[in-house]
Amino acid sequence: MNILVLGKPGAGKGSVAEVIKEKTDIIHLSTGEIFRKEIAQKTELGILAKSFIDKGNLVPDEITNEIINSILKKDPSKSYLFDGYPRTVNQAVSLKKAMKALGMGLDGVFDLEITDELVIERLTSRRVCKKCSMIYNTRNHNPKVPGVCDNCGGEIIQRDDDKIDSIKARLVVYENQTKPLIEYYDSEKILYKVDGSKDAIDCYYSIMEILNAKK
Ligand code: ADP
Ligand code: ZN
Repeated sequence: MNILVLGKPGAGKGSVAEVIKEKTDIIHLSTGEIFRKEIAQKTELGILAKSFIDKGNLVPDEITNEIINSILKKDPSKSYLFDGYPRTVNQAVSLKKAMKALGMGLDGVFDLEITDELVIERLTSRRVCKKCSMIYNTRNHNPKVPGVCDNCGGEIIQRDDDKIDSIKARLVVYENQTKPLIEYYDSEKILYKVDGSKDAIDCYYSIMEILNAKK
């Protein structure tokens, strides 16, 4: 089973993915996470990606497509949860081609819907663990010890792209480049809408209900 979560930045893709990952044996593929790991390790790819990411722009398609293709090629028999990829129609076309060549397919695309106001509210208060990427929030989900991850003891930080100017830029990028994917997957008849203003666990149940009904 391969599924994809779509939505504005802050729609909860990463949080829903964390729940799904905990409850199934699906592999979580987050291009944002992959880039952040590369940035932390100061690799060539990381340094290049950071120059796009901090401005709220997308990393070029060729780079992103190649990363995903090489992962899928290594193990096409596994189940994948795509989070933050594809983000452009060009990437979606590339993914379809790569999956087809490997005998893979998408079972469902879940669009987590939220308003821009909620995006800004969520992202300006979002904090993440530098080490394990666990997500926190200064409004309603603080670690037990301030600044220290409950899960791994790592340092909790604010992402550079969660500052207000980057958030606004990311919302524009979403409108122009990612939103067209909704129509793309709707025409492929695999698009399902989920209320992203709900908690991650509720989004998870909605997604599972839809997938079970398809069986
Ligand atoms: P969010 O969904 O909260 O914006 P992500 O962790 O998915 O965060 O992505 C962070 C940043 O990484 C994006 O704003 C973008 O610059 C870059 N990025 C992630 N995925 C892709 C992708 N598929 N294509 C191009 N750039 C990407
Ligand atoms: Zn941690």
